[in-house]
Amino acid sequence: MIQCLCDHCGKQMSRGEARYEMRVEVRLADTSHALREDDFTPRNLSAVTRLLGSLPGDEPAPVEPPGHHAVFDLCPSCCRRWRRNPMGVRSASADPRWG
Ligand SMILES: [Zn+2]
Repeated sequence: MIQCLCDHCGKQMSRGEARYEMRVEVRLADTSHALREDDFTPRNLSAVTRLLGSLPGDEPAPVEPPGHHAVFDLCPSCCRRWRRNPMGVRSASADPRWG
């Protein structure tokens, strides 16, 4: 009886067969150039004024949602390949099916 499919290669995995659950979380990283409360001092006032004046007027900032979560089922073979190359970077030795 097939329980699930590998989300990468499509291998059918039966009940009791080893499989891996990959949880992916992408979050907006803390940016060092974001304004903080201690930036708003009289000494920095002109620099902050110039920065705020350079921002687009009424247009919303083009930002991605602050976070994203996803869960994937992987067969042992795909899990092993992911551990070796989690970003799917292609190289001469990389598996062409991953990436
Ligand atoms: Zn697989």
